[in-house]
Amino acid sequence: MLYTRSSQLFAEAEKVIPGGVNSPVRAFKAVGGTPIFVKSAKGAYMYDEDGNRLIDYINSWGPMILGHAFEPVVQAVIEKAKLGTSFGMPTELETQIAALAVSMVPNIDKIRFVNSGTEACMSAVRLARGFTKRDKIIKFAGCYHGHSDSFLIQAGSGAITFGTPNSPGVTAGTAKDTLLARYNDLENVAALITANKNEIAAIIVEPVAGNMGCIPPNKGFLEGLRQLCTDNGILLIFDEVMTGFRLARGGVQELFNITADIVCFGKVIGGGLPVGAFAARAEIMNYLAPLGPVYQAGTLSGNPLAMAAGLAMLQSLDTDRAIFQRLEEKTAYLAAGMEKVLKANNVVFTINRIGSMVSVHFDAAPVVDFQSAAKGDNETFKKFFHGLLQEGIYIAPSAYETWFITDALTYDDLDFTIQAVDKVSKTF
Ligand SMILES: *Cc1c(COP(=O)(O)O)cnc(C)c1O
Repeated sequence: MLYTRSSQLFAEAEKVIPGGVNSPVRAFKAVGGTPIFVKSAKGAYMYDEDGNRLIDYINSWGPMILGHAFEPVVQAVIEKAKLGTSFGMPTELETQIAALAVSMVPNIDKIRFVNSGTEACMSAVRLARGFTKRDKIIKFAGCYHGHSDSFLIQAGSGAITFGTPNSPGVTAGTAKDTLLARYNDLENVAALITANKNEIAAIIVEPVAGNMGCIPPNKGFLEGLRQLCTDNGILLIFDEVMTGFRLARGGVQELFNITADIVCFGKVIGGGLPVGAFAARAEIMNYLAPLGPVYQAGTLSGNPLAMAAGLAMLQSLDTDRAIFQRLEEKTAYLAAGMEKVLKANNVVFTINRIGSMVSVHFDAAPVVDFQSAAKGDNETFKKFFHGLLQEGIYIAPSAYETWFITDALTYDDLDFTIQAVDKVSKTF
């Protein structure tokens, strides 16, 4: 496959956009080469500017769980656009999608819509701080909660107790209120809580981690976090921007039967338009302006096009209850097929999977946290990525990303992918 026009377009983009992309994960920095420019997409496929067809395992990083240009979403957006694209005033549509989301997700009474997952997590933490009247939060190394200042903190030696900024521009003052813990390590969390008694407002966690590859929680990890929070007056925030409306109708709370205090959404909830949301029981949500003292706002929040897309998406997921089972079966089939051929070709690897999230790591040890995820062999990953691309298969250009399976994929697509993995892994 040739990508000449994409390369030309990238060169043009680089002149006027930093790095040629509007979000760094789209650049090919970790794998080399230049990003592919998309012209259109339908179902499980993307079509690029050179006329290549790519089987898509990223699906806009999650939202296109029912495939690209999903008809009910497209129709809803077209119809709404004719009636005006933004009012800055309430619409009935906002109540409809809020009521549906509240009916699908356990333990939430009220939900507020924003424009991105970043905004959802940032606002959830502010709300938790306002509600508990405490300043500090605990986050886990390798978990991503968007790009707001408090979350751009990564683990490094000596950074176990106090976070150090990993992006210039994040002040030391902000960083000191973010405490870092190891994923799947309850003792580490308990020690942080003891060392910061009555100072921690919230623990924010990806209840199934998806931003260091796919890392499901160990048995007892989420239950332990719940207990620690309850015992210490800390709010448990589930960042379900990736997992919400994907791993189950009601997200990870439903999947593992665990109650979070605040839940963040993004990605699937917008059906491919810019939407995020955060939700909790009424007691907490009533702390938000205009009812309560915690301020949060947005000119385009609850935008009619975005809400129309989100509502059509949630309605589709709500009506066809077999979707999550189908997604699980397709993903298990793909994972088992890849495992078989990688083994046959003597590749050193670990595959992690839960529901419709799967990741391939080129290391033999179990991948359970950021440290173990970081051990994967990046040189092998580069060959894997570019090899699959030549076969017309698109996975994320980074070894730290999860594959997102869409219901639009057929078993023929999955078989084709497994054969391509076989072919490519023979060249390692
Ligand atoms: C993608 C993601 C975010 C950020 O959402 P944006 O819409 O990109 O701002 C936050 N948390 C998790 C778990 C995510 O996967």
